[in-house]
Order: sequence, then C-alpha cells, then structure tokens
Amino acid sequence: MMNEVVAKKSMVYTIDLTKIDGDGSFPCPKCGVTISPDDESDEVYHIVETKVVGEELSELTLQCNRCGSKIRLVGFLAAI
Ligand SMILES: [Zn+2]
Repeated sequence: MMNEVVAKKSMVYTIDLTKIDGDGSFPCPKCGVTISPDDESDEVYHIVETKVVGEELSELTLQCNRCGSKIRLVGFLAAI
C-alpha cells in the first residue's frame, strides 16, 4: 500500500542517510541551505510526510522552506 502524493511541479530529491557523514545534516540539493534533522524549528524546512515500518522510521519527506524542493530521506533502517 503506497501513500502516493501527486507530484506537483516541485522536484523531489532523494538523500540517502547512509551516505552522509557527521551529524546527519546536509545541504539542500537545490538551494544549498543546510538542513539538519535535529532542527525542529520549522524555519529551514518542514516535514511533509513520515513513513514508519514497524516501529522504525523508514522514510521522511521534507520540504525546503527556501526553495520549495521536496527532499526524501531514506536509509534510516540501514543506519542502525
Ligand atoms: Zn532548498
């Protein structure tokens, strides 16, 4: 069962967390603003969708507040 979101014109980028070093922050693929998963202020990005498998977070979709790009984070399970 997919929870499909109809794609609008904004691009969707995919970030694999297993390929990110350090604290898990990364630059927005489009505008370059630093997105940190620990930042819960909603100033830089907001969470659009979360996908949980069992009790573990498996995917997170964010939207950059600066450029409007959607960024899909994958690799949560592999990182454990
Ligand atoms: Zn951006």
